[in-house]
Parts: sequence; C-alpha cells; structure tokens
Amino acid sequence: MTKQVRNTAAKSAVIEMLTVSKTALSHAEIYHQLQSTCDRVTVYRILDRLIEEGAAHRIALTDGTVKYALCEQCGEGQHHLHSHLHFNCLQCGGVSCLESEIPKVQLPRKFKLHDVSLVVNGICASCNV
Ligand SMILES: [Zn+2]
Ligand SMILES: [Zn+2]
Ligand SMILES: [Zn+2]
Repeated sequence: MTKQVRNTAAKSAVIEMLTVSKTALSHAEIYHQLQSTCDRVTVYRILDRLIEEGAAHRIALTDGTVKYALCEQCGEGQHHLHSHLHFNCLQCGGVSCLESEIPKVQLPRKFKLHDVSLVVNGICASCNV
C-alpha cells in the first residue's frame, strides 16, 4: 500500500472512530485504536486536517488534555464556529459536546478574542444511575 492510500485509510478510520464514539477522543486514544497502522505524527496531521476542513474541533480541558470531536453542533459553512459548550464527566472522564452556546463575552476596548475554552464539569447520564 502506498503512503497516500494508507493515510487516506487512516483518516477514514479516525472519522469512523469519532462518529462511533459518544465522547470526544484524545490523540492517545485515537492512536491506540489505530493499532500502529500509522505513527503519532500522522495522527496529529490527520486531526489537523479534519479541523482545517471543518469536520472536527479541538476541546482543551483545564488539565491540559486535548480531545477531538466531530463537528455536529457547530454552525455550518462559512459561519462555522465551534461556539458550543463541552461537558466533562468527573466520574468516567467522558467529554461530550453540548447544544448550549458559549455565553457572549464582553471584552474591554482593544481586546481581541481568539477562542473561549469553557468546560462544564459534572456527572454524565451513564454515570448518574
Ligand atoms: Zn466545528
Ligand atoms: Zn460519566
Ligand atoms: Zn464540541
């Protein structure tokens, strides 16, 4: 298999993984599930590509962990904005997209907003039994 074909296959595998998963996945989890069909750098490249294409987005947790999720609740097309909140389950560690939008932030004059990292901590439905 050529490198190109292998990378395309790996990319589809990553999309599939994120589609099936109910929670966002970290680079390590994705890399692990690919079972060394491609190296760590390739996995980062695939994820970067998906983000560029507006197919996925990054979720930065307060502890420094970065997770990836497919874009479903993001605005479509030109107005693609990952402006929704994320939920972090304190019990299972599962991170998922919420439908709630990030509240509008009022910034002082001359301040420029890049992005807002807001994570809601709590207990998810599967753990809350
Ligand atoms: Zn998005
Ligand atoms: Zn949970
Ligand atoms: Zn999300």
